[in-house]
Amino acid sequence: MAAGGAQGAQLQYLKGIGEARARAFARLGVRSIPELVNFFPRAYEDRTACRSVSRLVDGETACVRCTVTSECVLMAHGAVRFTAADATGRMSIIFFNQSWLARKFRRGDEYVFYGKAHLGKYGMSFANPLFEPAGEAGRVTGRIVPVYRLTAGLKQSDVERAVRQALDRLPVGFEDAIPARVAEEYSLCSARYAYENIHFPEDMRALALARRRLVFSELFALVCALALVRGEDAGKPGARFAPADFSAFTASLPFKPTRAQLRAMGECAGDMSSGRAMNRLVQGDVGCGKTLVAAALIWYAAQNGCQSAFMAPTELLAEQHYATLSGFLAPFGLKAVKLTGSMGARAKREALDALASGEAALAVGTHALISGGVSFRRLGLVVTDEQHRFGVAQRSALAEKGESVHVLVMSATPIPRTLALIIYGDLDVSIIDELPPGRERVDTFAVTSAYHERLNNFILRLVGEGRQVFVVCPAIEPGEEAPPKTVTAGEYAARLGRELKGVRVGCVHGRMKARERDAIMSAFTAGDIDVLVSTTVIEVGVDVPNATIMVIYNAERFGLSQLHQLRGRVGRGDKQSYCFLLMGSDTEVARARLSVLKNNSDGFAIAESDLKMRGGGDFMGTRQSGHVIGDLKNLRFPVSAIFTAKAISDDAFSSAAFDTSELRRAAMQKYNELKDV
Ligand code: ADP
Ligand code: MG
Repeated sequence: MAAGGAQGAQLQYLKGIGEARARAFARLGVRSIPELVNFFPRAYEDRTACRSVSRLVDGETACVRCTVTSECVLMAHGAVRFTAADATGRMSIIFFNQSWLARKFRRGDEYVFYGKAHLGKYGMSFANPLFEPAGEAGRVTGRIVPVYRLTAGLKQSDVERAVRQALDRLPVGFEDAIPARVAEEYSLCSARYAYENIHFPEDMRALALARRRLVFSELFALVCALALVRGEDAGKPGARFAPADFSAFTASLPFKPTRAQLRAMGECAGDMSSGRAMNRLVQGDVGCGKTLVAAALIWYAAQNGCQSAFMAPTELLAEQHYATLSGFLAPFGLKAVKLTGSMGARAKREALDALASGEAALAVGTHALISGGVSFRRLGLVVTDEQHRFGVAQRSALAEKGESVHVLVMSATPIPRTLALIIYGDLDVSIIDELPPGRERVDTFAVTSAYHERLNNFILRLVGEGRQVFVVCPAIEPGEEAPPKTVTAGEYAARLGRELKGVRVGCVHGRMKARERDAIMSAFTAGDIDVLVSTTVIEVGVDVPNATIMVIYNAERFGLSQLHQLRGRVGRGDKQSYCFLLMGSDTEVARARLSVLKNNSDGFAIAESDLKMRGGGDFMGTRQSGHVIGDLKNLRFPVSAIFTAKAISDDAFSSAAFDTSELRRAAMQKYNELKDV
């Protein structure tokens, strides 16, 4: 964003770029000069460090400044070899397949060579080093060289040359959107310095400074844009509810809400009685009881004459939430209806009528809720579960079915706190950081297939005591060849069916018809199936408190956070629960990863370990190398800086200090990328 709009000057204006190279650049996503300036190197080669020959280290790359001390010897296969030395020692320089070089190097000439040192039987040597005459050093050696992502038809030097020209064309007084006082407060270098040094760093310190500015500016843009979106929402009127008193609702519950649940309910109710539209994320680890919070608010909306809509990402979850929420509302004579894609016409008609007439206080469904035929008498609250599955657009499409609708988003995605702040910047956030009391920690074991028989016996014993079991196998995508040692859900269900005598085994997978799958899930929920073998379709939300064993096959193929979500399907009642992580391949790395789960029950801690082990790049998805935001993990800014940026941006926007349309476009794009994480 900072170097101007994407529609800026064409690349062909630059020397050395014709149609063919322009097309090659386009393949890298670079179509204009501003995009070129923002096409950051993916790495750097530090060719500044000049060593004396005696201090070369085998296997390390370095520069040496040496005089040629021998004639060139032509060797087999056109290789050229000569010796070179500085005051501290001598070494061999060898070039393969470049016999013409034999005429180039003369005894007594001084060169700077850059190469990888190799210590062999002839002593220290460089093979095929880069070089330039010592008097002219600085172009090839003696500097930090950017390494760009390339594509066919583009060489490093092409990109470098183009970037150099683009930088030289930055207008006088070029700046980005960071206000001067913010730059000052955080000791940021100037934008021009940052762009210059992200491509052609003077030294490592300059590179660090440049990066800092660019990361900050990207973050700042994001935060500003989010402030804008939020500013708009904050201005939106919301149905003003009477101040909340949940005592009648909580009195109807079989348990006491946790303090964290009550706090979240209170924060939401505060929004809903403020006269402005609520736009809030309730985030909490698996099993913390988010559904209850939603139920309380749906009840509260009904007390204020408003209907609610609850949108779940799959039919299965819609089904389950329908059952749970109906249960919470029944004591108050409040009716809920279900709306999914696979419903019969008759049932759907009845549900639609109940919503239009206002007879039903709640609609629970999939995205079928958004469809045109659905209308409410008076919709006041929209809840979406597991929000990362829905886009902002779907969320608001539903909200638009009413006037001044309050929006509540629920998510268990364990995102490290600093990131949550950024990613969900357009929402207020309530965090449920407490599990209901009496939860036993899920005992977690990482085992190999050698454990199979003992595991079977264990399952038999617990099923005998009336418990139920989840078994999860990785999904094999259609057309994907199963990696060796992978067990599919179907195969494993068949095997367990044979091995576990008298045990009722069911199987669900993603390629089944929704109706079939629902039937089996319902049977499991009702206790008519003892062992449910599935792919990750049960990953989110499923709540069967009687299930106390979770077995995950090929656990090494799952992300840690995903494993944590899966494990969260057990340990929901007061019975001791167990999770077995079966390793298809027993490697050091697999063990190390799984031991994180064994020793942790907090989703946030697990997500952060996952992040560390996989590296930030993966997490943020650095598909486009130009995105400094990939460095977020290593961000040296305290969270308070982000808050400050937020406050300043609010301020700046209200005084229309800078052109917000461009900023907003760029930052919304970023927001959408981050949202998919
Ligand atoms: P999640 O936050 O993962 O969606 P759920 O809403 O499915 O969690 O709740 C998990 C389980 O905990 C459910 O069986 C629910 O009935 C139970 N539960 C929720 N709140 C409490 C509470 N305050 N005390 C005891 N059990 C609770
Ligand atoms: Mg849930």
